[in-house]
Amino acid sequence: MGLKREDGKRRMLDDIRAEINYTQPLTGKASFSKDVMEAMADVPREQFVPDDLRHSAFNDGPLPIGYGQTISQPFIVALMTELLLLTPEDNVLEIGTGSGYQTAVLSRLCQSVYSMDIVSELVDAAAIRLQTLGYENVNIRVGNGYHGWPEHAPYDAIMVTAAAPYIPDHLIEQLKPGGKLVIPVGQQFMAQQLICIDKHLDGSVHERPVLRVSFVPLVRRP
Ligand code: SAH
Repeated sequence: MGLKREDGKRRMLDDIRAEINYTQPLTGKASFSKDVMEAMADVPREQFVPDDLRHSAFNDGPLPIGYGQTISQPFIVALMTELLLLTPEDNVLEIGTGSGYQTAVLSRLCQSVYSMDIVSELVDAAAIRLQTLGYENVNIRVGNGYHGWPEHAPYDAIMVTAAAPYIPDHLIEQLKPGGKLVIPVGQQFMAQQLICIDKHLDGSVHERPVLRVSFVPLVRRP
């Protein structure tokens, strides 16, 4: 890795460490686990942003990736990953593949990631990118995330990276008892809350608001 890139990466990691520390009163987390920080250090974010934005790849902010979509802010990627408390045996569903960056981070921490996006061009580009970079435990397809991906359910963890006006029933159904779902809930450009959902062993569901966030909408198309 070039010196400039190494510096940029270090700055990004310092930024997300600082941010988890000062948002602790809201999130209940003072620091990221070692595994999540390692995954954030390992995945080359510069490979997931458009060429002309590479100089900004390590800024702690979202960036446009085309089709009106964005690659999420590194801190939010790390936070949502942390909230899932993944283990190496986990089977994970991601809704909103986008650039594939979050998919790559998840893939470092679990057995398999199933990721879907409604924009076929983004799915095609992410599939090539993830394959080229050697992420082998990921499966990607085009589809509407409101329906989930029932063929590989139940999932130990589900992450939604676009904001929904409500928590889709299908995603709760496809979550294993004992599993966690992280999803931004709210309208576009309005107050959205990142919600962490626990599905208990008896099937009951508990919701906890974690942080105010700003995501592109989870679009409702048949
Ligand atoms: N995780 C991505 C963030 C992508 S932004 C990354 O790291 O780059 C949110 C993504 O959700 C967009 O790519 C958008 O196309 C997708 N999306 C929006 N509505 C959707 C839906 N109903 N089903 C699946 N994906 C959807």
